[in-house]
Amino acid sequence: MLMDHNTDSALQFVHSARPALAHDDVAELLAARWGISGELVDAGGDRDQNLFVTAAEGPSFFVKVGQPGEDPGVLDMQLAALRHVAQHDPGIGVPEVISTADGDPMYALPADGGGEHRLRVFRFVPGRPVSRHERTPALMRDVGARLARLDRALRGFFHPHALHRLLWDVREAPAIRACAFDIPDAGMRDRVLGILDDFSADVLPRLAGLRSQVIHGDVTADNTLAAGDPPAVTGFIDFGDVVQAPLVQELAVAMADTPYGLDAPWEAACQVAAGFDERLPLEDEELSLLWDLALARVALTAAVLASRAAGRAEGTGSMAGIVGECRRQLEAFDAVGRAGAFAALRRTLRLPEPVAAGPCGASAQPTEALRRQRDERLMPGLALFYPEAPLHAVRGEGVWMIDAGGGRHLDCYNNVPHVGHCHPHVVNAVARQTAALNTNTRYLYDSVTEYAERLAGKMPGELGVALFVNSGSEANDLAWRMAAAYTGRRGALVTAGAYHGCTAATAALSPSDAPEGDIPEHVRMVVPPAGLTGRPRGGEPAAAAIAALDAGGFGTAAVMVDSTFASDGILDAPEGYMADLFAQVRDAGGLCIADEVQAGFGRLGKFWGFEAHGVVPDIVTLGKPAGNGYPLAAVVTTPEVMAAFAQRRDYFSTFGGNPVACTAGLAVLDVIEREDLCRRAATVGSYLRQRLAELGRRHAAIADVRGSGLFLGVELSRPRDDGAPATEETAAVALALRRDGVLVGIEGPGANVLKIRPPLVFREEHADRFVAALDRAVAAAM
Ligand code: PMP
Repeated sequence: MLMDHNTDSALQFVHSARPALAHDDVAELLAARWGISGELVDAGGDRDQNLFVTAAEGPSFFVKVGQPGEDPGVLDMQLAALRHVAQHDPGIGVPEVISTADGDPMYALPADGGGEHRLRVFRFVPGRPVSRHERTPALMRDVGARLARLDRALRGFFHPHALHRLLWDVREAPAIRACAFDIPDAGMRDRVLGILDDFSADVLPRLAGLRSQVIHGDVTADNTLAAGDPPAVTGFIDFGDVVQAPLVQELAVAMADTPYGLDAPWEAACQVAAGFDERLPLEDEELSLLWDLALARVALTAAVLASRAAGRAEGTGSMAGIVGECRRQLEAFDAVGRAGAFAALRRTLRLPEPVAAGPCGASAQPTEALRRQRDERLMPGLALFYPEAPLHAVRGEGVWMIDAGGGRHLDCYNNVPHVGHCHPHVVNAVARQTAALNTNTRYLYDSVTEYAERLAGKMPGELGVALFVNSGSEANDLAWRMAAAYTGRRGALVTAGAYHGCTAATAALSPSDAPEGDIPEHVRMVVPPAGLTGRPRGGEPAAAAIAALDAGGFGTAAVMVDSTFASDGILDAPEGYMADLFAQVRDAGGLCIADEVQAGFGRLGKFWGFEAHGVVPDIVTLGKPAGNGYPLAAVVTTPEVMAAFAQRRDYFSTFGGNPVACTAGLAVLDVIEREDLCRRAATVGSYLRQRLAELGRRHAAIADVRGSGLFLGVELSRPRDDGAPATEETAAVALALRRDGVLVGIEGPGANVLKIRPPLVFREEHADRFVAALDRAVAAAM
C-alpha cells in the first residue's frame, strides 16, 4: 500500500510552517460559527495552530487550525475516529468534537496563499499531561491499560483515509532516512542511520503479517492526560496522527514517547507494555518487535526534529533541545541493550522463557548457570534426567520438546502431555476458564459434575462416582483410605516392583522406592507377571500374601495394581493374571484398586488399562494424563464404596476438582474423542512394537520388547554376561538418544528397560525416527 505513494507526500510537513492566524480573527469565527467566546491562548503544536479557549469558568475548549495543504478526507477520518471512540467507550476520555451551529464538524477558512485552513473545535479533556506528573510504575501501567482500552474501542473503526501516509509513522523510516543527515553530531547521526536502516531491512517486512487497525499513533507523555492523587489517566488528546497501522506500533510509540526524560525509560516502557498486555494481550510476534519499533520511533523523532531545526527558522532552539532529549533516550535504551530489554519485558509481563533462535532473539539463561542455581535453591541432588547433558526445555509442541537453543527433541517419554504438548484446545480451555473463575468444590459449578459424568460414562459396571485430587499419589492415598473404610481392614497387596506414590501411605505401598527389605508389615508383595530377564522377580503368591496379612491381624483391605506394571519393568501379564489376583483378593474380602495413573485415557489402546486385562475394579485411580499437564487426578468408585467412605469422613481438597482442572480434564476427553487417539495408540503402538521387535532381531542386546499401545518397554541385557541387566549401557543408550534428539525413560528394577511412552499424537513417521535413532544408539553403546 505504501509503495503506491510517492515519498514526498510523507515528507511534506517536515519543513512546512504551522498556521499563525491572528487570535482576534479566530475569536470572531468562534463566536460566529460555534457561538463560543473566551480568551485565546497559544497551545503550541506540531503542524496545526492550536489554541485554548478560556471561557469565564476556565479553559474549556480547544481549537485546531489546519495548514492549507491538509487533506480534508484525513481530517474527516480523525473526527470520525473520535466520534467512534466516544460512542463505543465514553469513559476513555477523548476530545469531544463540537460542531458548528450549522452542524458541521469543520469550518473551512480561505488561506492567504490559497487553499483553506480547516478549523475544528473540541471540548477540553480534564487532566494534566503525564509529562508533568511523577511517572510512577503504577501511572505508566495505567497509561498502557487505558491505551489498550482506546485500541479496543477503535477495533471496529475504519475510514478510507485511515490509509494515508504520515510523517511520524515509523514505517516511513526509509523516507525519513534523508532527514538524519541533518543531525549535527556524527556519532548520533550514525546511530540513528543505523537504527533506521536495520529497521527498514529487518522489521518493516515483518509488520505486514501483524494484526492491523486504526490507532492513535502518537501517544506521548504530552498527549496523555492524568489527574488525581495518586494520578490516574483521564484520557488522550491530539488525534492528528490517527492511521491504520499494526496494533503493536501503537504500544511501541507509547513505550518510546511516554517515558521521555526518565532515568530508566525502558523500565517505564515495560510498565506501559504490562498495562497494555493485561487488557489486550500481545501476540508473540508483536512482543518480539516492541524493542525495534520503540527504538526506531526515537531515531525517527531525532531525524525529523534535526531536519526541522536545520531547515526552519522558527523554533530552532527548542527543536535542537528535543534532539538532545532524543539522544539521551537513545543512550538510555542502548545502555539496556536488546538482550536486557527483552529480559526486562519478560520479567514485567511474566513471559515464558525465550527460545534463543525465536522471535524475541534474547538468549535464555545459560544451562550451566541454571543448573547451579537449581542445586543451590532446591533439594541437593534432586534428580535430573541426563545429568551429563540436562535438557533446558522452554517449549512443547505436539510430540516435540524444544530446548532453550531452539533444538527440537522427539518426546517418546512424556505421558502427561497426553494429547500432545500444549494442545491448543486444552490451552484455550484452561486459559479461558482461568480468566473466568477458579474456585473450589464447596461452591456449585457445572464443570466438576460434567467431568465426573463424562468419566463415569467411560467406566464399566457400577463405577459411577468420583472425587477429585491433584496428583496420582493423592488419588492412591484416597483410594487406600476408601478401601480401609469400606472393609475395616488394614492390609494391602501390591506387586513386588510397584510404585504408587509419594505420600506416607502410598510410599508404603511402593516397594520399588523402598530401601532393600524396608516394607511395612501391613503391605505384602505379590509376584508380578513373568517377563523380566536376568533378575529374580520377588514377591510371593497372592494366597500366601493374604494368609500372612490375616496372620498379622491386618486382613486384606485391597490390592493395588498398576495396569502397565511400569515400575516392575513394563510387563505383559499373561491372560488371567489380573482376574486371578482380583478373585483371590475379593474372596478374602478385600477391594481391587486399578492404578490407572499411567495406563488410563487410551494409552494402551483400550480406554482403561484394566479393560485390557479383562477385569472390573472396585476403585480406579487416575492422574498424570488427565489434565494434559494441569494438575488433575481422580478416584472413581462405586456408589456403595463411596457411601461407606462418606459415612466415616468429610472430605475436602482445596484444589481438587477446581473449575480450571475440570475444564482441562473435559478438554482432554474432547481431544481423545475428536482425534480418535485411543485407536491411534493401538495402531501406532503395534506398528512401533513390531519395528522394535525387528530391531531386536538385529541387536543381541535387545533382550525383549514388551507393552501395548503407546506404552512399550525395550529391555537391554548383556548377551556375553549370561543376559545380566545392561544397567550402565541402558543409561548410555538413553543419553545417546537424547544427543540424537530423542527422549526416552528408564524403568525396571534393574534400570535396564527403556520406557517408551510418547504423547498419543505420535505417528508412524515419529516411530520410524525413533527406531532409527535407537538402532544407532544401541550399536554405539553395546
Ligand atoms: N501411580 C503410578 C502407577 C505412577 O506411575 C505414579 C507416578 N509415577 C503415581 C502413581 C504417582 O503419581 P504422582 O507423581 O502424580 O503423585
